[in-house]
Amino acid sequence: MEFIANFIDGKYQAPDSGLYLDNVNPSNGQVYAKIPRSGEQDLTRAVQAAEGAFPLWSNLSSGERGAVLLKFARGIEARMQEFIKAESQDNGKPEKLSAHVDIPRAISNFHFFATAIEHFSSESHYMEQVGINFTTRRPIGIVGCISPWNLPLYLFSWKIAPALATGNCVIAKPSEITPYTASLLGQIANESGLPAGVLNILHGTGPEIGNAIVAHPKIKAISFTGGTATGQHIARIAAPMFKKLSLELGGKNPTIVFADVDIEQTAKEVFKSSFSNQGQICLCGSRIFIHESIYEAFKRAFVHWTASAKVSFPSDPKAQLSAVVSQGHMEKILRYIELAKEEGGTILTGGERLRLKPPYEEGFYISPTVIEGLSNDCRTNQEEIFGPVVTLMPFAHETEVLEKANDSKYGLAASVWTKDLNTAHRMADKLETGIVWVNSWLVRDLRTPFGGVKDSGIGREGGLEALRFFTEPKNIFVKYE
Ligand code: NDP
Repeated sequence: MEFIANFIDGKYQAPDSGLYLDNVNPSNGQVYAKIPRSGEQDLTRAVQAAEGAFPLWSNLSSGERGAVLLKFARGIEARMQEFIKAESQDNGKPEKLSAHVDIPRAISNFHFFATAIEHFSSESHYMEQVGINFTTRRPIGIVGCISPWNLPLYLFSWKIAPALATGNCVIAKPSEITPYTASLLGQIANESGLPAGVLNILHGTGPEIGNAIVAHPKIKAISFTGGTATGQHIARIAAPMFKKLSLELGGKNPTIVFADVDIEQTAKEVFKSSFSNQGQICLCGSRIFIHESIYEAFKRAFVHWTASAKVSFPSDPKAQLSAVVSQGHMEKILRYIELAKEEGGTILTGGERLRLKPPYEEGFYISPTVIEGLSNDCRTNQEEIFGPVVTLMPFAHETEVLEKANDSKYGLAASVWTKDLNTAHRMADKLETGIVWVNSWLVRDLRTPFGGVKDSGIGREGGLEALRFFTEPKNIFVKYE
């Protein structure tokens, strides 16, 4: 049994309490590693290490910091296969997905912010006859980064790369459900020449070590990705302490299919936007609105794609979906499927737990599920399920679908499928979300602002937004004589 360790002050360390949690492989339901159940003492050591490292790290030039982060990118790349296998073992996702999305995007995050920092400058303003204003941007100090389990290394690196690039020291906590690839980053940090104490990685539960990070007075900013209820809890602690907060939270994203699309092609694309990563991407579309004139034809094509999708163990190269992340999460998804039936929904395909052949029979597999016959205001269509479950709803008019798409407490992302650019622009303008994709989904450009509105969070990550979040601006005015 492998024992994962915290990474504090450049060294792997056991938790002060000596307590460990089980780390389960979702593909077979077996415990395969133990992770530290960290607490206040571990955090105290991490904060001391970060405080000690801050003067050196924050005073390096951006080029010097960038050079270290480029080594992170190369270090992960050099161990690509190990990272791919580790991510899939920990999360249950197909290795093909880890190989094409998670690990390459984690590498890109380090690469992007290592170079972006060299192009990051601040403003100056000439005031006629009076003087000059200029703004400096300095690192905040010690920042906390807390990430979820769905895209473990991808979202972990999405936070720590800009935090480090801007000269901060970081205390980071990956999800207790998927700690493994984050734990490997300590090795990468040391191989890359990152000074000890700049990056500290603590494992354990949200209510214990996560909460302690949020509440620590010396941690001045929190970048959090996770569920909306957890985000609210974090805001309640951090707001009275006037911490900077970035909250990337849940979603219930609409997918809107107009009558003029190529039905077969769009059904295939919408299959991906619904079920990638077993539907466990905050950006997956889960409410699919289809123009009534093509409803039946689109439904046939979409259900065909879904019903023929291969659900298999992560290392199967043909797997399109694999296990969901945990037994608890699987049970939650299955409860939502039951709720959908109680609310009057008809299951068109899927709707059940799948038992694969040994040694995967205890794994957490759910067949991708398509439901119709529900109204937009029922719980199934209003609450985030975060699994391989979508609903289909017909619509007649643009105004009607817009109203229904926006009738959600969430506002993370939407996708619009149409050949008519006017329709696409009108919809994109009026959808109440932070991101709109037209005839596409999950096309990411790291320069763009990323985040949601309403209960999907506050603040934006990505590109300059992330560099701004992790720095404190100060305006200086100099008067002319
Ligand atoms: P959670 O909110 O349960 O957990 C997210 C992280 O917060 C985990 O590391 C968790 O630790 C930690 N945490 C839990 N409780 C606390 C606490 N009291 N104080 C501090 N930290 C805490 O979310 P999930 O991990 O279940 O992730 C799924 C959610 O994330 C979905 O709602 C999804 O929509 C959202 N998400 C949003 C994205 C976005 O960009 N908007 C992207 C990806 C996911 P632990 O794991 O130990 O409980």
